[in-house]
Amino acid sequence: MRYHKYLYLAGEKFKNPHLQTHLDALMKSDKASLKELEAIQLERLKKLLHHAKNSTLFYKERLKDIDIDTMTLADLKKIPVLTKSELKANADDLRNEPEGQGLIKAETSGTTGDVFLFNKNIHWDASFRAAQYRGYSWYGVEPWAKSLYFWGFKKAFKDKLKIRVLDFLLNRYRFFDYTNEEFERAADRIRESTYIAGYSSSIHMMAEYFKKKGYKFDNIKMVKGTAEKVYDSYHKSVKEVFGRKITSEYGSAEAGVIAYECPEGHMHIVMENVIIEEIDNKIIVTNLWAYSLPYIRFELGDYVVLDNETKCACGRKHKIIKEVTGRIGRKIYGKEGVYSTININHTFKNLSFKHNIELAYAAKQYEKGKMVFDIIDDGELNQTEAREKLIASAYEYFKDDVDIEVNFVTYSEGKTKKQKDFESFIKEEEA
Ligand SMILES: [Zn+2]
Repeated sequence: MRYHKYLYLAGEKFKNPHLQTHLDALMKSDKASLKELEAIQLERLKKLLHHAKNSTLFYKERLKDIDIDTMTLADLKKIPVLTKSELKANADDLRNEPEGQGLIKAETSGTTGDVFLFNKNIHWDASFRAAQYRGYSWYGVEPWAKSLYFWGFKKAFKDKLKIRVLDFLLNRYRFFDYTNEEFERAADRIRESTYIAGYSSSIHMMAEYFKKKGYKFDNIKMVKGTAEKVYDSYHKSVKEVFGRKITSEYGSAEAGVIAYECPEGHMHIVMENVIIEEIDNKIIVTNLWAYSLPYIRFELGDYVVLDNETKCACGRKHKIIKEVTGRIGRKIYGKEGVYSTININHTFKNLSFKHNIELAYAAKQYEKGKMVFDIIDDGELNQTEAREKLIASAYEYFKDDVDIEVNFVTYSEGKTKKQKDFESFIKEEEA
């Protein structure tokens, strides 16, 4: 199906003429040494800082004491961290969007009411997709290969139609509904596809269905999970059905692809595009291509654990993100204390580690001092044991301060929104 390649390349070129240049450069530095990667970073950082200082009021002030030309990567730490609220409050002073330069609209996928609109310069956009495609190449997947995309929730018909056209150009078919009939149709398409991408809960849900039916596919080169947390428990059925686990892509609207998981299971930071730091477990991002909205040392809002020790067997020297442990800012309220959502992550990790029980969950808090865990069970769980051990594990982190209620749920067929690992219904002012 060569024509798909040409259709695809024409479409991409039309959308962004710089994509191929970025992809070529990323492929070239794919096996670069750490020293070489850091040299690329420093060069791009200096360019970015010069641009930010010359074109925005905000950075003219903030960078006034930095000698950009003689700085090292370590000197980046001299620049204060930029918080989300600071970014929003100063957005007008930060924006640098010259007309006629092919800006691309973007928005942060924050919680409702928290959406932030901005424009990406074309290199920012190109670097983002090139990073994705380099990740694909690690699995022998070409960008124009036939794929299936699993959307996380139902879409209006009008939106669907628009998306279908775009998908056709990208040789992609997208599923919106999660019924058994749709899964049967998906099975036929999967046999003709090279890779699958989408919301990990949706992919897992489908895999569970196929597992029950005894379907197996040996033609899928990559199963990529995006947008949602990939729970350890998801891998089992996905591996059984597709022969491989879910590959993680970590990023955000602002930052693009920050890290991509290699076939050895390590999330390599796309060091050519971003500089990643960790302060008190919080991820700090500098996007080296964000010229239309320069952000330097931006506190993205996730807790992460970096791994500076591991030498990956895949041969890449790009630094590794060991784990994304949760979102910052969402609090769990006890009867007395306040807890970070990292404690939920610890609770389930601990359960998996000590008892080998891996659960997919949605934690919810409706009132202070109480938390509800909705646990997905497709009929294979020992519920009594899982409940007992889960409550015991949660006790290690919340003691008597938070009462735990455990419910077992199946995937509902009418799943209508993104799966969240924690949701709070407590208004901040009440707290
Ligand atoms: Zn690797």
